[in-house]
Amino acid sequence: MKVGRLTIVDALGSRDGHRMVACACECGARIEIRRSSVVSGHTMSCGCLKRDALIERQTIDNLSRDPRYFVLQNAVGRCFDTENPGYANYGGRGITVCDRWRFGEDGRTGAECFCDDMGERPSSGHSLDRKDNDGPYSPANCRWATRTEQQRNTRSNAIFFYSGADRCLAEISDLCGINYKTLVTRIRRGWSPSRAFSHPANR
Ligand SMILES: [Zn+2]
Repeated sequence: MKVGRLTIVDALGSRDGHRMVACACECGARIEIRRSSVVSGHTMSCGCLKRDALIERQTIDNLSRDPRYFVLQNAVGRCFDTENPGYANYGGRGITVCDRWRFGEDGRTGAECFCDDMGERPSSGHSLDRKDNDGPYSPANCRWATRTEQQRNTRSNAIFFYSGADRCLAEISDLCGINYKTLVTRIRRGWSPSRAFSHPANR
């Protein structure tokens, strides 16, 4: 008799008034257990079923905590969420995320495909860069890129509160999708930060 991963291989008689059986589990383990527990379907493995489910859940948790996952989420938001502050400069001008990264492929989720294709992010200073600025987020058009020191030096040191935290303009530029230089120009011209970070850029 087989229930779940367990196969009853031996009757062991009674223990404390319960009929006991020996079961072989698919994982190779052998356990002794109350017969009623197996027959009722209450127990379906030696414990490996729960363990495997836990590992699977942890894997999913770990992936959703992977910073790369949020990088992808942000890109999808900029391209497809019309409420996203960066939408005008991404989705609004035809930038998309490829189907493989958005919906997944071959039984793997979009996030898994994205992580496979892009590899490890070299550092938190690396952002997802599109080689062709008018092209999509896709394996062929994306790379991890860091801002050069020179770029950093020309950037304003001003800090603004944006999207829940104090951030420099370079960071805000990444989040809102408005070109960094455009942001600097706007702030210098006396725009309010909220307008500078939300008003769609001209093209
Ligand atoms: Zn087992």
